[in-house]
Amino acid sequence: MKYRHEAKQNLENAKASLSNPGLVNAKYGALSLRMSVEALTYDLADKYQDDMPLSIIDTWQPRKIMAEILEIDPYAGRPSTLSYGREPALGKTPEVFREIGTETPISLEVIKKHYHALGSFLHLPTLRQIKSDRQQDEEKIRRRCNELIGGIEKILSSTAWNINMGNTSTMKCECGESLTRRLKKDGKPRDTQCPHCHQSYRLTDIGDGKCEWEPHTQKITCPNEDCKTVEYVGNHLITPGNEFICDTCNKKYKIALGVSPIT
Ligand SMILES: [Zn+2]
Ligand SMILES: [Zn+2]
Repeated sequence: MKYRHEAKQNLENAKASLSNPGLVNAKYGALSLRMSVEALTYDLADKYQDDMPLSIIDTWQPRKIMAEILEIDPYAGRPSTLSYGREPALGKTPEVFREIGTETPISLEVIKKHYHALGSFLHLPTLRQIKSDRQQDEEKIRRRCNELIGGIEKILSSTAWNINMGNTSTMKCECGESLTRRLKKDGKPRDTQCPHCHQSYRLTDIGDGKCEWEPHTQKITCPNEDCKTVEYVGNHLITPGNEFICDTCNKKYKIALGVSPIT
């Protein structure tokens, strides 16, 4: 499916509905704009499809998809410009750059700000609204729609799209999920999480095209007096009621909340 085309079509439908008066037409406008936002999110997700787990590809919720895209690439959702230039010598920065195009993708901010708000307009008034005689405000719907139309038009008028560059690193999580993540451009470490088992990692660029994946863990000393082995348990497993087995003495333990006296 050509999602970009779908986004444009829904934007046009929204504008056509909003050009007619009445609450019903305002609601049709909100519905079409919601679908336009969904199409733009799927369009962006297409770019990261190979790096995304199936469970996320299957979801229709833009916010969930966008959150996963940002796990893969912290720069997704930010405008970017593609330029080229001739290197004066191998590896030297070109003096003159020619711009190919600029892309403004859909961002988490736009989704957070508008997507759910639009959804709330598509329901019947609640019992409380009826009782207090507070009917749905047509003007409010139209204001929200017009604000979003401007944002969508900006995204659709991008002169380049699906700019996809950057260093990536792939690692197989303990749960078996394959994780691919972009490294930060400034070389600083970044934290990321496996969408399947929720283990979190710190990714550090250690040079020579290599990347270190350090799982976030807690140090736990085996309570068995004859063992006392120090185990490192993933942060995502430190939940009351969770069990773990000591690799040395094979004893099973349950994680519980503890209280200690304050001295
Ligand atoms: Zn995992
Ligand atoms: Zn032990």
